[in-house]
Amino acid sequence: MTWTSIRDETRKSRKPRQCILCEDAIAVGETYVARTGIGDDGRVTVAMHVDCEGRTRDWSIDDWESNDAYEMRGLREEKKSESDYRAG
Ligand SMILES: [Zn+2]
Repeated sequence: MTWTSIRDETRKSRKPRQCILCEDAIAVGETYVARTGIGDDGRVTVAMHVDCEGRTRDWSIDDWESNDAYEMRGLREEKKSESDYRAG
């Protein structure tokens, strides 16, 4: 895979999307990161949860290629229950 990032934008989702990192849904109205770049198939924009994207800050290309959606989802769930705990 080759990838050249053009830009990242934080947007509010106006339609349901899927996070490329955890493969979970990004709900309508949820804030997400829209990353536009040039990949193997040309120019594309991918959607990621803000939290998921935050975990990729020091990733190398190998980390991207070996991303495990199941693991990402687990980390997201963990964080979610942590904040529920704090709220309660
Ligand atoms: Zn995600």
